[in-house]
Amino acid sequence: MAEADSVAVIGLGRFGSALAVELMAGGTEVLGIDLEEDLVQALNGQLTQVVRADSTKEEALRQLAIDEFDRVVVAIGGDVSASILTCSVLLSMQIPVIWAKAVDDRHGLILEQLGVHHVIYPEKDMGRRVAHLVRGAALDYIEVAPGYALVKTAAPSLLHGKRLGDTGIRASHGITIAAYQHDDEPWRNADNNTLLHDGDTVLVVGPTSSAEAFAQLR
Ligand code: ADP
Repeated sequence: MAEADSVAVIGLGRFGSALAVELMAGGTEVLGIDLEEDLVQALNGQLTQVVRADSTKEEALRQLAIDEFDRVVVAIGGDVSASILTCSVLLSMQIPVIWAKAVDDRHGLILEQLGVHHVIYPEKDMGRRVAHLVRGAALDYIEVAPGYALVKTAAPSLLHGKRLGDTGIRASHGITIAAYQHDDEPWRNADNNTLLHDGDTVLVVGPTSSAEAFAQLR
């Protein structure tokens, strides 16, 4: 099973199961692992393989040939010690890429100190992201790196009916319009000849403060 594009997801709670199902939808083969029989049953048939096992036990992981996976996601949050033990076992098995979710900074720090390759903070990141949605007019918001963001917002009036290349928007607002959508048509890449209209939606990239300020324009 662990061939071309395959990922093992350990912990099939809300986060792990959503991640596993999304990976499957994108064509990745997914092995899901959880202690709880109910969760294993619920996902049976939706993932390439779902098994009940205790991921803190190296022997159990070896039986599942976890060491043949290039990428493993540890999505255990509630039981922090199980998360740490699982990561420690995976690291000793020399899994090339381990992603692990942390419930808070302390948990994350320990995972990072252990040597987990990618530590993610879903609740903290989502909280920060939603703050930007709540505060402003952004329809969607992703901070791609500290201080740099991608924002989806309504095209403000200063862009309506003008070639994008003639608006001077980069110089005046410090952002780039990367893509746009007219009505329910598919999204298109924007270029200098793009003509935007009232009601269009744009994808803006730039420094967070500039992108956010742009999303406030009407
Ligand atoms: P969420 O907030 O995404 O629902 P949880 O931390 O509540 O995440 O869920 C983590 C999942 O990990 C649970 O379904 C739990 O049964 C599973 N889990 C916890 N410890 C282990 C373990 N040692 N081995 C396998 N799965 C585990």
